[in-house]
Amino acid sequence: MGVNSLRNTIFRSIFIISGTLLVVFSIFVSVLIYKSGIDSAFAIIRQRNFAMRNYMLWYFMPLKNTVEVLSEHSDIKKGTKITTSEKQGILEFYRIVKKIIPNINYVYSGYEDKSLFINDYTPPAGFNPTERPWYIKALESHPYVSDGIPYQEIKDKSWLVSLGKTITDNNGKIIGVLAVDASLQHLAEQIRVSDSSLKTSYSYVINRNNIVIMHHENRFLNHNLSEVIFPMPDFKEKEGSFHYSTIDGVSKIAYYHRIDELGWILITVVNKNEILLPIIFKIILMLAVVLSAAVILGIITSNTLIKNVVAPLVELESYLIDSAKKEKEIQYPDNEIGRLARAIQSITDAELYKKNQQLMDMNAQLEVLSITDPLTGLYNRRKILQEIEDEKLRAERYVCNVSLLIFDIDHFKNINDMYGHGEGDLILKELGELIRSSIRATDVFARWGGEEFMLLLPETDLTSAVAIAEKLRVTVERHIFSNGKNITISIGVSTFIKGCSVDDFIREADDMLYRAKETGRNKVQYIKKERAHEY
Ligand code: GH3
Ligand code: MG
Ligand code: MG
Repeated sequence: MGVNSLRNTIFRSIFIISGTLLVVFSIFVSVLIYKSGIDSAFAIIRQRNFAMRNYMLWYFMPLKNTVEVLSEHSDIKKGTKITTSEKQGILEFYRIVKKIIPNINYVYSGYEDKSLFINDYTPPAGFNPTERPWYIKALESHPYVSDGIPYQEIKDKSWLVSLGKTITDNNGKIIGVLAVDASLQHLAEQIRVSDSSLKTSYSYVINRNNIVIMHHENRFLNHNLSEVIFPMPDFKEKEGSFHYSTIDGVSKIAYYHRIDELGWILITVVNKNEILLPIIFKIILMLAVVLSAAVILGIITSNTLIKNVVAPLVELESYLIDSAKKEKEIQYPDNEIGRLARAIQSITDAELYKKNQQLMDMNAQLEVLSITDPLTGLYNRRKILQEIEDEKLRAERYVCNVSLLIFDIDHFKNINDMYGHGEGDLILKELGELIRSSIRATDVFARWGGEEFMLLLPETDLTSAVAIAEKLRVTVERHIFSNGKNITISIGVSTFIKGCSVDDFIREADDMLYRAKETGRNKVQYIKKERAHEY
């Protein structure tokens, strides 16, 4: 049904429109949520990185300065050529420095002759300071303080980070290295600083050769960063952000900052998942809210449309179906659809009225045709038989007279033969007119067939009927037809007697006509008998 598909169309359209809007809106908002989530994650790790960098500077600058200052100390520059009391003085000085700067684990100096000045530490047998990493690194970095290098203490295997600088004699010849150690373990824990807001966040440090020198997981220490993360960034800027995967397959987002004062790069990271999961949750929540809103809005909109558009159409449709069966008053809504319905109704009403009129006209025409003789325009045989039937019933019920005349043109064949059939037809017509103009309005005149006519005379007894027949016979006899000829007719008369049939009534008149023909034509014949007493 039309209205059903209209309803479906409304539903479909609204859900397609709201679905499309939903998808566009969701994509837009999802991108926004994602971007702002990632941005705020970067902002957080950037802040952390900044704080860590300050911490590193605060931690190491005093250490670096200490190395710088001590390596220029005149007694220390004397190297191993000092007296025992001078050596005691230096060691005492180292002790004071360590006390003042608590981040320092050890202050010590090693010399070309393998001797080592240090407090509270007994080197293992065969210890050679010049082979130690801190010594080699300081030589490499000459005349500057070396970058911090992580190394494992020989005896207790604890991880340390060391800053060192060459000691030169007054001639500028390198005689040893002065170094300070800080506990790497302690430092790495300090810069790890994960908290409840970003549980997977931590920082670590690489040197200018991309070697990991500070990390809370020892397994990464002394590895080139390019061996443990993919892809390896180039660290060209002073600071910046990047993404990578670890060798364990964990995706991270990271922020780095160069600490040029120490020759290090501080990297702060967080697991991508920790950032993405809340973002995805937010997006799903947003989608659920938007989806519910769209469904509710869609239902409300389509219901409103259906109520205001489809429902009146359904009513209109049922009206049209009903009005095809029967009359029905209908209350239309006061809107476009109501007005449309009213317009359709008036059109259909007007059309129905018109068709009805046409039908009635045609019926009337058919009615006339069905009782009319086409040639003469008189009643036909069918009509007069019906009239005879009715008149018989009336005569029986009200006890009244009714008579019947049948007449036939004398020697009509001759007329046809002489003037042709067309001329004969004209005479038939003219005769019809002539008789019609000579009878009463209540008389029923018909063409009985061929050139025979019949005249039914209500309220007429035999005597009157014979008189009328005689008058008509004379009228015809005297009439000069348009072709200049005249004709005569023979007439049979009968009158109705109660109890006799229509057939008898007609047959008697027919018999009388026959007798008129037999007895010479141009005459009226009837059965002479008194019938009045029979009623
Ligand atoms: P009668 O005096 O015995 O009646 O002689 P008639 O020549 O009239 O003979 P009858 O009544 O037997 O023949 C009727 C003729 O009327 C036969 C037919 O040619 C003619 N006729 C019948 N119907 C029509 C008609 O519609 N038009 C014309 N032109 N002639 C008709
Ligand atoms: Mg005849
Ligand atoms: Mg005849």
